[in-house]
This record gives sequence, C-alpha cells and structure tokens, in this order.
Amino acid sequence: MSTADGAFDTDESCLFCKIVAGDIPADLVHTGERVVAFRDIAPKAPLHVLVVPRDHKPNAAATAAADPALIGELVSVADAIATGEGQPAYNLLFNTGEAAGQTVFHTHLHVLAGGKLTELPV
Ligand code: 5GP
Ligand code: ZN
Repeated sequence: MSTADGAFDTDESCLFCKIVAGDIPADLVHTGERVVAFRDIAPKAPLHVLVVPRDHKPNAAATAAADPALIGELVSVADAIATGEGQPAYNLLFNTGEAAGQTVFHTHLHVLAGGKLTELPV
C-alpha cells in the first residue's frame, strides 16, 4: 500500500490491476491482503504461476524501493504455492524491461516448476 489512505496504487490500463480487481477472470491460486497469484495463461512449465502485489508498480525494483518487505512476501507466497502443489524445487523469475521479455508492466514473480530450465523460458 503506498498512499496515505491505505489504498493500493492502480493503473486503469494495466492488465494485472484488472485481474487483481476481479474485472478480468483468472485462475486464482492465492488471494491475500497484499498479494494475489494466478496461473499463467500460456504456461511455460507444468507449474507456471504469477505472484503479483495488489499495489501497481511497473517492475520488481520499483516494488522493492517502495516496500522491500513486499518482495519477501511474493517469495513466501511463491514457495507456499509450489510446495503446496508438490513442487518443492522451482525457479523464480522477474523479467524487467521490454528487452528482457517483460510484456506486462505490473510487478509479477514467475514461479516455474516441474520442468528443467535449459534457457530463459518466459
Ligand atoms: P512477462 O513477459 O511480462 O514477464 O510476463 C507476463 C506473463 O503474463 C506472460 O507469461 C503471459 O503468458 C502472462 N499473461 C498475459 N496475459 C495474461 C492474462 O490475461 N491472464 C493470465 N493469467 N496471464 C497472462
Ligand atoms: Zn497494475
């Protein structure tokens, strides 16, 4: 939360803000006070979940600058989801910048499991 009244930042043109708000459907696997997670629409591994803060920031570094503990929360939620789905070994990835493959400019942590990472998959 990054405004004085406790509301989250949002961007009305942002796809993940719309998913967080429930305006666009997603296969949700976690809905917390500050973090939600849902299955990637185009999975690149047997388990491919996106863990997303409700607060809109364009990338992980911006979230870390605004609220470092929130990055820890994303990792903890990712671990709980992967472990809960029987995948205690997994890869975590934050794409940052268009040239690195980022296509949605709302912080999201990719959780990938059940396959071998031989090259950057997403
Ligand atoms: P990025 O490339 O920005 O790191 O990751 C964006 C991810 O969002 C991609 O893996 C893409 O498949 C996923 N994605 C894009 N649109 C949607 C959508 O409408 N719903 C869901 N669940 N995932 C989406
Ligand atoms: Zn957003």
